[in-house]
Amino acid sequence: MNIRTNLIRAGAALAAVLALAPSALALGGRVGDLAGPAAQTAVRRIPAASLTTAAQQTEADWRLLLVNPWNALPEDYEVELATLSNGLQVDARIYDDLNDMLTDCRAAGLEPIVCSAYRTQATQTRLYNNKVARVRASGVPEDQVEAEAARWVAKPGTSEHQTGLALDIVAASYQILDEKQEDTAEQQWLMENSWKYGFILRYPSEKSDITGIGYEPWHYRYVGKAAAAEIHRTGVCLEEYLGEAALPAAELTPAQPVRPAEVVRPLEPVPPETADI
Ligand SMILES: [Zn+2]
Repeated sequence: MNIRTNLIRAGAALAAVLALAPSALALGGRVGDLAGPAAQTAVRRIPAASLTTAAQQTEADWRLLLVNPWNALPEDYEVELATLSNGLQVDARIYDDLNDMLTDCRAAGLEPIVCSAYRTQATQTRLYNNKVARVRASGVPEDQVEAEAARWVAKPGTSEHQTGLALDIVAASYQILDEKQEDTAEQQWLMENSWKYGFILRYPSEKSDITGIGYEPWHYRYVGKAAAAEIHRTGVCLEEYLGEAALPAAELTPAQPVRPAEVVRPLEPVPPETADI
């Protein structure tokens, strides 16, 4: 595997690094690409000094860990987990804020259900391999099997669910992961209020070309209250918030399509591996 782990400081820290290190180099390793005019014409350059190790990133701010199709988790990433009442698990450090959010949402008369949270590398690998097998069985040409599978299930190491900082929340009255989820009162409440508890809607509809992920009006990501407030106020996505170094780089590999959200995934019963990216 030649997955580049690119963990990036954010905000002022990144700005300071950029100011101190104006020299830049083109990204090496395996970085992604996106279809689109800008991506096809520009090579984004990233200052070497902005690329930090996992340890530095964790020290800098674990809440801003970036995991996306171009930024895999370190293989030895470990997280202390806390278990929710339904048996799913999250990073223990977000438990209190998550609990506050769900409690207040319920106090508003709503019924949010966490249907997917932390996943292990083994779980993600199993999901991905299962998808590869199904795609292969459907008759897709062998040289396209993995790319097609990755449109639906994140490759192991690149699912934000492996951080313990992401979770999928649905309305009890509509437990389907599709765009209609956004119309539920639960999602309306979460989209309006989740930032107060440190969570953001991670894959907004208009940011797919930057996140690489289709609209998912159920996938929330903990980034901490300060970052969530700023992201909510300015309307950016996490990659934009983290700065240029976190944006998808246009480079030498062929463009890959934005992965659309899987349209219909019933959640009864509700195994933690049912959900999305
Ligand atoms: Zn999700």
